Amino acid sequence: MLSYKNIFKILVSFFIIFNGSNLLSTELSEISKLRIINISEGVRVIFESDKPVKYEVFSLKNPSRLVVDLANINFSSDFSLPPNKGIVKNVRFGSFSNDISRIVFDLNKPLKKIKTKLLKPSSGKKRMLYIELEIIKDNLYSKKESKKKYFKKSKSLKKRKTIVIDPGHGGKDPGTSFQGILNEKDIVLNFSKTLRKKLINDGYRVFLTRENDKFIELKERVEFAKKKGADLFISIHADASKKDSVRGFSVYTLSEKKMDREAEKVASLENKGSIFSRKGLIGINLTQNRNLIEDHQIKKAFEKANQSSFEFAEILVNKVKEKSQLLKRPHRYAGFAVLKSPNYPSVLVELGFITNNKDRNNLRSKNWQSNVADKFVDAINQNYK
Ligand SMILES: [Zn+2]
Repeated sequence: MLSYKNIFKILVSFFIIFNGSNLLSTELSEISKLRIINISEGVRVIFESDKPVKYEVFSLKNPSRLVVDLANINFSSDFSLPPNKGIVKNVRFGSFSNDISRIVFDLNKPLKKIKTKLLKPSSGKKRMLYIELEIIKDNLYSKKESKKKYFKKSKSLKKRKTIVIDPGHGGKDPGTSFQGILNEKDIVLNFSKTLRKKLINDGYRVFLTRENDKFIELKERVEFAKKKGADLFISIHADASKKDSVRGFSVYTLSEKKMDREAEKVASLENKGSIFSRKGLIGINLTQNRNLIEDHQIKKAFEKANQSSFEFAEILVNKVKEKSQLLKRPHRYAGFAVLKSPNYPSVLVELGFITNNKDRNNLRSKNWQSNVADKFVDAINQNYK
């Protein structure tokens, strides 16, 4: 397992939907109270709200902070930040995007674990919602357990996922080619459209970076995915080899080394504006938020995206092998430009080798394309299970 996985052991970060039907509601919830209570394991932070709230919680190190992002909320007129308590040495508002409010807890000790818990409103009272954040010292509570115990992902959560499919090449750039009659750009566009149809049938929002035989810069593809709020980016390609015996499906994710370099680049270049999509660190304006946004936070976003990319690539390989031959070491690492985004997990797939007889026949076959696209859908479904 990759070493940076350890970093996530201390990071619990997820969205919770309290009521599936409220999923797309933009009606504001009102936060009436925020309390801090000392407990033996650390501290407990409690929010009270009149309606379901979508939130995300994560921690930052050096200095130690707990960050709570709340979507579509208002603070009641008598709301005030609580006094400092226990390991909380300061509570403050962060800068927000339009629909996200951020509260930052400066801590005088590093966080080992965050636990979130939902307490149901007691009967007869105005509807209330508690979000409980617990900082505990020991490994009493694993991330998996906490998810299983308290939260069930609703079907509609899956349905909201946005998948951006990126058919490689196009226009003046044919990609790989076989005798000038079969071009990668056409194969991958066909496959992408087949995949889109199936994903839409399964309830996903799907966007293609190109709909026709058009040349698109790599940067634009990444920009497009960010704008669409991609939850997953899949770039579709077909391979070629000097050896016509080489065949099989493969999937690439960003290499760890490359990832670090990219994270540093983004950190230095993007201090002007918001680099994050609606997932994760939502639309934070870096200029307004100097004290909050540091290089390591951007690195963390990269690590998070890359970890998810890695996991999805593994799932995808396992699904596709049911229908198609795999290349040796089918999960590979490279620094493809379209994979360099901290905003969402991304993979680049090579469907097969245009230079190999059997693969070429497959790549041309509607039936094969459909079968493999089915496996992509299976993998995406499993990814969000
Ligand atoms: Zn290609």
